[in-house]
Amino acid sequence: VHKSSKQGDFVLFEPSMDEEANRRRTIERRMREALEHEQFELFYQPIVCAGEKRILGFESLIRLPDGQGGYIPPSVFIPIAEARGYIKAIGDWVLREATRQIALWPEDLFISVNLSAVQFRDGDLVSIVRDALAASGIAGHRLEIEVVESLLLDRSNAILEQLQELKKLGVSIAMDDFGTGYSSLGYLWRFPFDKLKIDQSFMIAFEQGEANIRQIVSTIVSLGHHMNLKVVTEGIETAEQAVMLSEIGCDQLQGYLFGKPVAAERVAGELLASLSARVAERDDRTADV
Ligand code: C2E
Ligand code: MG
Ligand code: MG
Ligand code: MG
Repeated sequence: VHKSSKQGDFVLFEPSMDEEANRRRTIERRMREALEHEQFELFYQPIVCAGEKRILGFESLIRLPDGQGGYIPPSVFIPIAEARGYIKAIGDWVLREATRQIALWPEDLFISVNLSAVQFRDGDLVSIVRDALAASGIAGHRLEIEVVESLLLDRSNAILEQLQELKKLGVSIAMDDFGTGYSSLGYLWRFPFDKLKIDQSFMIAFEQGEANIRQIVSTIVSLGHHMNLKVVTEGIETAEQAVMLSEIGCDQLQGYLFGKPVAAERVAGELLASLSARVAERDDRTADV
């Protein structure tokens, strides 16, 4: 019997579909276990002031241990968590853990937390945030939440209302990954943002020598400032990128150049280094006088 190429394709295709389904099932099982046994981990990446390079706060980034000493990245498991009904429990844990942790660190530092659109769906987000603030004892202004543009496609006012309620708690709102979606300016006007996070793809393009990136980023920074927003750029890996951003007036910087996301135990060291840099700067200034 001879195989048609069509059957051949089918035979080749089927196992990979199986593999994909298996992979998703394995990840789902791992998530369920991690929720049950509190095995998720939260990493923290510094966000620094463009001027003095001192740490202003941290973005919390979730990690799922794979059980073999490594981690399954959030870009892989968050979409599955959203589709399979785990994201609310996970997001609730992240809010509690991030606020609990920042309460242990100096009071002038903020913590930012990424939220999924699904967390806005049931209308209980505001009370979950309020509870996390109360349990940790931190002031609302120390918490920043990050949302992506796709969230704002929602035609109803439900999202807007929840964001406004969060603002009443003192919480700041950042638009994450700015410049990757439609970046309709209408959203920026309509929603109560405090901060724009310029997506790291601009830094990649800059590194690749793409023309006009400096002008484009500079335009986004001006746009943000005209709307009274703070502007932070993500994915900074080189000193050239940091210099360019400081020159065009970007307020805050985030990227491997300043620190990779690390476990809370390892942040203590970074904080101390940042604080001692501040002291050293002050001493320098005193010495100059
Ligand atoms: P994001 O919120 O845009 O986070 C920035 C991502 O860029 C993080 O990836 C971070 O580790 C990475 N990054 C930071 N600086 C650099 C750099 O200089 N170079 C490079 N190459 N990468 C850098 P991560 O931790 O893998 O998270 C990926 C995405 O997963 C996040 O993107 C966010 O959308 C989502 N995510 C992470 N934690 C949570 C969470 O707790 N809840 C929800 N709903 N989503 C989360
Ligand atoms: Mg983010
Ligand atoms: Mg981002
Ligand atoms: Mg992103």
